[in-house]
Amino acid sequence: MTKPVFVKKSRRCCRLTVQPFLWTSQCHIEKILFVFFLFIFVAFHSGCAGQKPHVAPAPEIAPLLALKSDRVAPALITSTRLAVPAHFGISLAAVGDVMLGTWVVPLLDSAGSTYPFAATKNILQAADIAIANLEAPFTDRGERVKDKQFTFRVPPKHARGLKESGFDILHLANNHILDFGPEGLFDTMATLDSLSLSYIGAGENIAAAYKAVMVERANAAGEKLRFGFLGFSLTHPEDYYAGKNKPGTAFPFRERYIAALDSLAPKVDIMVVSFHWGAEKMVRPKPYQIDLAHTAIEHGADIVLGHHPHVLQSIEVYRSRSTARPGLIAYSLGNFAFGSYSPSSRTSIILKCVVDAAGVLYARCLPINVYNDEVEFQPQFLPGAAATAVIDSLNSLSRHLNNGQNIISKEGIIVPRHEIANAATPSGAAPVSEAPLRTKPLKNNLQRKENRNEKSL
Ligand SMILES: [Zn+2]
Repeated sequence: MTKPVFVKKSRRCCRLTVQPFLWTSQCHIEKILFVFFLFIFVAFHSGCAGQKPHVAPAPEIAPLLALKSDRVAPALITSTRLAVPAHFGISLAAVGDVMLGTWVVPLLDSAGSTYPFAATKNILQAADIAIANLEAPFTDRGERVKDKQFTFRVPPKHARGLKESGFDILHLANNHILDFGPEGLFDTMATLDSLSLSYIGAGENIAAAYKAVMVERANAAGEKLRFGFLGFSLTHPEDYYAGKNKPGTAFPFRERYIAALDSLAPKVDIMVVSFHWGAEKMVRPKPYQIDLAHTAIEHGADIVLGHHPHVLQSIEVYRSRSTARPGLIAYSLGNFAFGSYSPSSRTSIILKCVVDAAGVLYARCLPINVYNDEVEFQPQFLPGAAATAVIDSLNSLSRHLNNGQNIISKEGIIVPRHEIANAATPSGAAPVSEAPLRTKPLKNNLQRKENRNEKSL
């Protein structure tokens, strides 16, 4: 990012010299000439010195500081200003669709269950929490659903690849988890249970499907944060939606949805809501996606994750009002390890969010190649220009939701909170460091509750 550059004073102004012989001369004309030249010199010189230094134009990317309902002039942010209290933060890595059926199964059999994640597992394992949408059931039994174009399943023995590669939570509310009926769903849940992997968005009935996963993680200072996760599906077939006595996925019926948000928010420090929604190959969210995401944040969510379109969709920082804390919405994370050779799904991201008790400190988009003609079901990080192209594209997809601004720096960083930018050095010259910026201790429980009440509209 371009740093502000102060243009040096023009040397031409300062080259005027006065010959000492003029002052020592006995000639009045020469003395008058000396005074005249002296006057000219001072006038020129003070004129130059008084000039305001020219400041280079603002960087093209001024991340995420003008928020929807809180039109504050964005501060300049450079990469060096993103020195964040990483060791006080807790990280969440989120990816889109993981579907290990079809062509992937023989590869899992031959190369091992961790094969799809070999190139990205360092990021997944390093995250305090990693979450994915699990698009196919782990089952060897059940009956294939009739009249459905694509049905998937994966041998349960390969589920350990998710665990060993760093995943913690799987989103099950999608349009394939019941491809082999309730048996397939139950086998998936039992398989994940046996590996101590958590799951959201599906269960033996609607109450179970709506059940939040709550996990606690401590930062390097030993301070603990409680995370709450909810998962929903708005994808067909509708038969997959859970009922009072029917296994299936959680559909966000409005009242029930809001009640679930309101119930979870006061119990956790960070709330994450995950959706399977939208239209395949569509790069912008539909109005109902925007509405549900905003509702989530208005009712206490910090992060909204989306998937199903198989391509990246817009990212938004949404603040319902100036006193509320901003939420980060990734409308679709695209594909991750997905058993298809579709040329429509070429690039995607891993979204890494770093949070503290006050919400999202920053997020980073890590561009990946998911085009299986090239990566053979093993997502690979994109280098240099290819990564920049993904960020540029995401910025352009996202402007319409962010007051026309680019919200992602060229390094892929999003900074939703004003105080982070304000705490940074104005020159941008400070070295990148992991030194803590936060001086306040974590809030106590009472304060947390008060904040939650304040956040709820
Ligand atoms: Zn889907």
